Amino acid sequence: MVSKTSLEFVVPVYNESECIDEFLRRFLAIRDRTDELDISAVFVNDGSRDDSLQKLEGYARKYPFIRVISLARNFGHQIAVTAGLDMANSDFVCIIDADLQDPPELVLEMYAEMRRQNVNVLYAQRRQRQGDGPLKRASAAAFYRVLRRLTSVDIPADTGDFRLIDAKVVRALRTARERHRFLRGLIPWLGFKAAPFLYDRDARFAGVTKYPLRRMLRLAADAIFAFSNRPLRISSYVGMGVVGAGLLLLFYVIILRLFTDQVVPGLTVLLVSMLMVGGFQILMLGLIGEYLGRVFEEVKRRPLYVVDLVLNGEDVTVSNDDSAR
Ligand code: UDP
Ligand code: MG
Repeated sequence: MVSKTSLEFVVPVYNESECIDEFLRRFLAIRDRTDELDISAVFVNDGSRDDSLQKLEGYARKYPFIRVISLARNFGHQIAVTAGLDMANSDFVCIIDADLQDPPELVLEMYAEMRRQNVNVLYAQRRQRQGDGPLKRASAAAFYRVLRRLTSVDIPADTGDFRLIDAKVVRALRTARERHRFLRGLIPWLGFKAAPFLYDRDARFAGVTKYPLRRMLRLAADAIFAFSNRPLRISSYVGMGVVGAGLLLLFYVIILRLFTDQVVPGLTVLLVSMLMVGGFQILMLGLIGEYLGRVFEEVKRRPLYVVDLVLNGEDVTVSNDDSAR
């Protein structure tokens, strides 16, 4: 018998109790719809405070193809996905949210499309954002635009983490252990062949978003600081500009002093330039602080996550030292 191609969902779960049963129902239905694929799932419980873990445990006990990895606390979405990817051992992996905003049924179409186009990554690109309010839509659009301008990595717009990747990409991804992760940038950074897959994003099945504005801003900062050092360069340019303007002003003052008997009418100029220069210096310090803080986080070399419990699988925690070799 030829063994089937295996495909695995990696599902981060944080307080998604209300969505889990429905997700499982649809997941099991997908399994029944295909003979070609052997479909399984890794659920990563990211320190949920509701009964998500209990529900997942129940399913894992019932179905051997459902694995659960439970983290010791909430480590955040990107790290949770990473933990799931570390566990994954299938030919193809589909990263998907538990809230059913991304329809899991699409995976079969995506798989066919991926095979047809012969690519390593098929990223799902939103045709429209039904489920999101105008604020989220506008901020996301602005964010992608800024990001594309700042980084040299080609990060596709309107694309979340929902995507299908092959084992080669998963393996490569495992070697990147940076802490402030932005998988949407990291995967394109790896290279490989990628293609978009257009889809309509639904509204959340139940519950509320775990990405309030504060977390979105943090993700945006991670994206920029992890993929670009252009902010530093821009600030040096501004610094040069300020120095240049200062020199010109100095020149002007000297000329006045030497060749006229005018006094420099300067209090306003003085105040404005002091404020500008002072403000700019503080801004620049903060900017350096952002990078420095990230360096500090990295040099501590703590593991990316801590595992509390694994069901139907083994703890495959990849430590920073393993992958650094
Ligand atoms: N999530 C997680 N850890 C977190 C925050 C979110 O594992 O700290 C999960 C969450 O359960 C969901 C996915 O990540 O499956 C995406 O979160 P959410 O749907 O809240 O984000 P949004 O779609 O609103 O951007
Ligand atoms: Mg969501």
